[in-house]
Amino acid sequence: MKQVGFLLDMDGVIYRGDQLIEGTITFLERLRALSLPYLFLTNNSQRARRDIVAKLRRLGLPADDHQVFTCAMATARFLAGQRPCGTAFVLGENGLANALHVNGYSVVDSDPDYVVVGEGRTFTFEMIEKAVRLVEKGAKLIATNMDTTCPTDQGLRPGCGAIVAMIEKATGVEAFSVGKPSPVMMRMARKEMGLATDEVVMVGDTMYTDILGGVQLGYRTVLVLSGHTTEEDLKSYAYQPDLIVPCANEIPTDWILGEGRGSSDGIRAAASPLALHAEVAEV
Ligand SMILES: [Mg+2]
Repeated sequence: MKQVGFLLDMDGVIYRGDQLIEGTITFLERLRALSLPYLFLTNNSQRARRDIVAKLRRLGLPADDHQVFTCAMATARFLAGQRPCGTAFVLGENGLANALHVNGYSVVDSDPDYVVVGEGRTFTFEMIEKAVRLVEKGAKLIATNMDTTCPTDQGLRPGCGAIVAMIEKATGVEAFSVGKPSPVMMRMARKEMGLATDEVVMVGDTMYTDILGGVQLGYRTVLVLSGHTTEEDLKSYAYQPDLIVPCANEIPTDWILGEGRGSSDGIRAAASPLALHAEVAEV
């Protein structure tokens, strides 16, 4: 019998800011009752894994360290694989610096192997100047992700991609990005759960990260409308999710179990007005 596991984007799927999205607790209880593993997957590199677990618990959701995977972790693991025990100049916050340290990296101010850019609200224009000069001298430019904006309770603020764009424009060097939708992070997350490609369901609220990443890796994809994407927005995308639901708790159990447990009946049953298409490609 095949397994099924879930990669769950956080903001817009689990919560919005500090507010749980309706049905989240029930949805996770359903997954646990079915013994289905899940991993929280975020492109926010600000917080360390432990801090995210603390936030989830504060919101009333049981979570352990091994259920959280961030783009900061993916970036640090990727760099450790490319150049073990390297050095990095970091534009970002604790989550990114911690992940680099855990993976054997030193955070330095001069002559780094890499300039690594993540989410942040505390760095200064002088630090961006420094990053530009280090890249000009040969440091490789790495982005934890290329999200251009980051949602907050007060509205949008510039995301990692917007900061990276300043450095790219100034240097003429294109960054390598590790976070969603990069296959680097999407594949690492699957391996973290110990699942095969056709056993993974990606649930997200953003087309160009969550859904694109899932489509590229051959995962089943679910777009929730509890974030910032509307059905109207879908018309402009060449790729589409396998299922669209108002929120994660509206994902039908028979759809969850259908393909993953070797039966297509559940998939067909999910062909609600919100389901764009019911066929799941062989991968
Ligand atoms: Mg999101």
